[in-house]
Amino acid sequence: MTMKAALKTAGGTFEIADVQSPKIPHANWVLARIRVAGICGTDLRHWKKHEPELEHHIMGHELAGEVVDVGAAVTNVRPGDRVVIESVMGDGDCEWCRVQQYNLCPNLYPVRTECVSRAYAEYVAGPADKFYKLPDHVSFEEAALIDTFSVCLHAQHLSGLSINDKIAIIGAGPIGLGQLMLAKASGADVLITDVVDSALQLAVELGADVIVNSKHDDPVAVAKAFTGDRGVDIVFECCGGPSMPVTLPQATQMARRGGKVVIVGGFDAGVTEIGLEWQRIQMSEIQLIPSASFSFHKLDAEQGMVLELLSRGKLDAKKLITHRFGLDQINQAFDVAQDKENTGAVFVAVTIE
Ligand SMILES: [Zn+2]
Repeated sequence: MTMKAALKTAGGTFEIADVQSPKIPHANWVLARIRVAGICGTDLRHWKKHEPELEHHIMGHELAGEVVDVGAAVTNVRPGDRVVIESVMGDGDCEWCRVQQYNLCPNLYPVRTECVSRAYAEYVAGPADKFYKLPDHVSFEEAALIDTFSVCLHAQHLSGLSINDKIAIIGAGPIGLGQLMLAKASGADVLITDVVDSALQLAVELGADVIVNSKHDDPVAVAKAFTGDRGVDIVFECCGGPSMPVTLPQATQMARRGGKVVIVGGFDAGVTEIGLEWQRIQMSEIQLIPSASFSFHKLDAEQGMVLELLSRGKLDAKKLITHRFGLDQINQAFDVAQDKENTGAVFVAVTIE
């Protein structure tokens, strides 16, 4: 059987092609039809880049759909169930996978890209424990944001954020806004920065206490004013990519003495030169905390925790969904997501009918 999929081209865009559909190779695997896939900052960093190793690959890691078939040993989902599919998946064999820290698995990237991290296609197959049944009132589109929110929840867990903390979030994209919702739900006071006014306006609707357009105002000065000159307890850097050489130093200037900077935004591979005031950071014991994807927290999968928060209305995914495109229009979808300053894009959903 074949299926429609968007394959990466040599120029870093997509072409729609017919490829082999995935099969259920083990008794504990599930086959699902994908209904909605998201476009995240990580996907955008690969957009229109020449990356020979990704050519002809199926990309995308934010996905929700419908179960069509299950192996004989599967008990958690059945054909017809609506599901969100977790795309962070390790090899299951290493020391990190053994203790459910599979986001740190040395084989994470090859394992997930061969299996569940293939959203821009009609079908996906993977182990049953990566499939979470959706309640009826959570739509496929909302469910496609669960991956994003899980990244935020993992970062918040690493930060140790607690009630009454004063925090700053750099970047009001889907990750920054997810970080905002979680921080507000946890009782923190939140300052958030971006360069796009429409994104900041959305942040206000989602409960931001202070917004800063860093094109016009100095976020460091505003962070000081926000905290009686002390600096914030925690800064979440949620921009990543080419803005890091500006936003990471900025984050260390917004943090208070003894505060924390959580690095949520992503880097490109290889060496990235970023000048930091290392002496000041050391003397003020500012902790730099890198955060990578998500996995488990205590007894629970962070993806499952987010699904619960979303089901109970503690997170609002609907407000973040600004655009929808069919799989055939995936190139247009990426252009719109990339050009957020002009399009006002936050979360762009790719629907697969
Ligand atoms: Zn592993």
